[in-house]
Amino acid sequence: MNKNITILFLCFLFTSFLDAQKIIAIKCGQLLDVRTGQVNNNQTIVIKGNIIQSVTPPGALAKIKADTLIDLSDYFVLPGLIDCHTHVLLQADATSEDYDVQILKQSIPYRTIRAVRSCNIALMNGFTTIRDLGTEGAGFADVDLKKAINNNIIPGPRMFVSTLAINTTGHYPIKESDYAWELHFPKGLQEITGADEGRRAVREQIAHGADWIKIYADRGYYKLDDGSYRSLPNFTTEEISAIGDEATRSHKKMAAHAMTRDGIIAAINAGASSIEHGFGMDDDCIRLMVQKNVYWVPTIFVNDYVAEGRARDGNPINKYFSESEPALFSKAIKAGVKIAYGTDIGGYDWDQPEAKDFEYMVQYGLSPLQAIQTATINAADLLSQQNKIGEIKPGAFADIIAVKGDPTKDVKLLQQIQWVMKDGKVWKNTK
Ligand SMILES: [Zn+2]
Repeated sequence: MNKNITILFLCFLFTSFLDAQKIIAIKCGQLLDVRTGQVNNNQTIVIKGNIIQSVTPPGALAKIKADTLIDLSDYFVLPGLIDCHTHVLLQADATSEDYDVQILKQSIPYRTIRAVRSCNIALMNGFTTIRDLGTEGAGFADVDLKKAINNNIIPGPRMFVSTLAINTTGHYPIKESDYAWELHFPKGLQEITGADEGRRAVREQIAHGADWIKIYADRGYYKLDDGSYRSLPNFTTEEISAIGDEATRSHKKMAAHAMTRDGIIAAINAGASSIEHGFGMDDDCIRLMVQKNVYWVPTIFVNDYVAEGRARDGNPINKYFSESEPALFSKAIKAGVKIAYGTDIGGYDWDQPEAKDFEYMVQYGLSPLQAIQTATINAADLLSQQNKIGEIKPGAFADIIAVKGDPTKDVKLLQQIQWVMKDGKVWKNTK
């Protein structure tokens, strides 16, 4: 190597190194310790690169040699939020027609372009991490979105993706009976029949980059005269066990869409780490979830949002779920069911609030702090990312947000995020 080039190269290495090691100090008006609920005044967060180095008490700022000082002394600062149930590739599907149009009339590239917008919205909403639970017929495009975000090509949250999702043959849209039978339609997920196909699906999805395995455990929900709910299980015991076993063997966790005991108990016995929706769960389900340490991701707002449209479509079950949800939620939290925040946004419009579920949770019995914990420390635990996300502490990623006013007093403030940092970079600035 030419000597000049060598020097140039060394200079380049040195400046890149300096760049990565830049120190940012954030002066916080109020700072929430999400674990204890303590709100501390005038603390400073020190960040090196993308990692939080320290949280220092008032007065220490003068001693910190920062390259950049960010003044959030008029703001309330808390960790970036985590949404454990999103569909960035979906743009609302209140009716089956909404759904079919996206799959049949929009190409996957077009849907992916729309998903770039969804990812940006999630980040602007203060959700610095999402677990995206299925591309709904858009192949492995979630893996590409995650890659583009990680390579700084587009803005977006940290993504944990589950690619195609899995159900059994004939139990997921697009529904053949809605169209001329001689046509062949794409499906919103990967269909399997038999334990071996279940194993193959898990292996294929992980090979393509799935971080999580998503299954649909039941369908055809109905209400009995005594007010309880039942459904049709989608998998045989052999199928669901094979999928759970294959996921575990690759050290992946499984998320199960499951509404009633017919799906919930089967999914938990197969090793599911989270039950999605669960609107029709009964006392046996609640007991089993507590006993097996399974998270409930209740997705409350989406159910209300789709209830009217689906009732018009001839299916009133979401309306019944809405009516029974408050009592179920308070029973589950009293029993000690662990809750992780998840919205199912994408199932409802991306222009609707992503922080709406906080409001419902507080209405149904959680304190604002407990509601915030579902989207921070609880969600980090579900994602096996404890100490990395969901907390502002040394060693964690610099994923930090700020609001005006105290969300531990008024959780609605989380619908107006004023400032967002992800991975040590500011993505949304105060006005
Ligand atoms: Zn969903």
